[in-house]
Amino acid sequence: MTEPGPILRVDDPFSGEIVCELPLASEAEAMACVDRAAAAQRAWARVPLRERVELVRRFGDALTARREEVARDITRQMGKPITEARGEVGTCVARAAHMASIAEESLADERLPEKSGFERFIAREPLGVVVDVAPWNYPLLTAVNVVAPAVLAGNAVVLKHASRTPLCAGHFARAFREAGAPEGLVEALVAGHEVVAKVVARPEVALAALTGSNAAGREIHRAASQRLLPVVLELGGKDAAYVAEDADLAFAVANVIEGAFYNAGQSCCGVKRIYVHARWYADFVAGALVSARNFTPGDPAAEGTTLGPLATPEAPRELEAQVGEARARGARVLCGGERAAVSGKGRFFLPTLVEGAPKDAAIVQEESFGPVAIVERVKDDEEALERMNASRYGLSASVWTRSEERAVALGRELATGTVYMNRCDFLDPALPWVGWKQSGLGLSLSRHGLLALTRPKSFHLRVKTG
Ligand code: NAP
Repeated sequence: MTEPGPILRVDDPFSGEIVCELPLASEAEAMACVDRAAAAQRAWARVPLRERVELVRRFGDALTARREEVARDITRQMGKPITEARGEVGTCVARAAHMASIAEESLADERLPEKSGFERFIAREPLGVVVDVAPWNYPLLTAVNVVAPAVLAGNAVVLKHASRTPLCAGHFARAFREAGAPEGLVEALVAGHEVVAKVVARPEVALAALTGSNAAGREIHRAASQRLLPVVLELGGKDAAYVAEDADLAFAVANVIEGAFYNAGQSCCGVKRIYVHARWYADFVAGALVSARNFTPGDPAAEGTTLGPLATPEAPRELEAQVGEARARGARVLCGGERAAVSGKGRFFLPTLVEGAPKDAAIVQEESFGPVAIVERVKDDEEALERMNASRYGLSASVWTRSEERAVALGRELATGTVYMNRCDFLDPALPWVGWKQSGLGLSLSRHGLLALTRPKSFHLRVKTG
């Protein structure tokens, strides 16, 4: 009789009840998973692109048909309010549909200008098996950014989800199967880090994608570098918003605060640093304190809840430490700054705004993965730019202004992969999602994201020999 292997247990961040218990794959089971994916991929690469597009569309239908079940599983595993979890299912389907809609044009052969006696074109070939390691904060959206384009481009995917949201990988695999995908095309893997490193070492694996923390990104990069394997790393952020002298203040307050506290602030591109022109500073803070009250802790399974519990047990302590250090160094806590519970349940952290934190404090420099943001007064655009760029992260930045010219001028100087005007905390699948500096390596979404999951093949044909 073989010994039972280790079990992954996931607790509900609100009730503390066990949501699921899943066996962690042994090395042999993980290798079998790669074998299935590799076999599926060899056949999938020959399937016409039009049929791949159809499969991804049907995947969206299959996920939509189970929207309520998938949304409830997200809420039970990581505490996202149920209305937002349902929204995530819808956005995931829309994102997959967008990638499907651009696949044929993006992946078409690129014909070069005529050269006498020669035919030359560049084809985009699938890579093979793509390993995708996903985080829990947007468990569907982060995964679909890789899974949908990978499948469209002719790859198979082994999806290793966060140990907080393992059921989400199962939902992807099942929806693809229900959509008619061949066995092994999208595999859900529940495994520990060491087994993932062994999977990455397999020669059939052609790219490792990871969305998660900087530390995790470096680990996967190290494992991948042993084989000179390409990586796509979507990592952390410390995104800044600048409310300029000509901002529509009421609009800026409502949207910046939503960008800071939506999903309990557990967003890679959530607003974490708010710089406000001196003209508006007092009014902005007054408005922000009112808007912050829209985010009240509640049972995430209840309709209308706006602030769920934090997903991980460590998070409240980490946020408290950041706020505590800032306070000890002279910063003022304008609201929140402490834990909360609802009927004695849940690991909540109250929406928190801190002003006057020293520039080198952890709350200014380190990622705050919760509803915590700093707010500071700046005298002009120049100072705003300097403060916004004073970060080792570079995911996104937003400028709140009535002037497109100002937004673009500042945007050209901002060291981030995305620049928004009067918008924040948002991904548009038509645009590349790319982290600068320590926020990532490579990119996803848009035609560039599709191409990143292929390799070019140059056809250099002498068509006339006489
Ligand atoms: P995390 O702890 O880094 O985990 C992310 C994923 O990586 C999980 O599946 C995790 O597995 C896995 N992982 C961690 N260390 C690993 C290792 N050594 N080898 C193999 N796999 C490893 O991050 P998280 O707490 O889930 O998510 C929050 C982070 O993700 C934040 O930093 C956030 O900014 C970032 N994020 C970035 C983006 C973006 O698009 N740039 C989007 C969303 C989130 P386990 O759970 O089993 O440890």
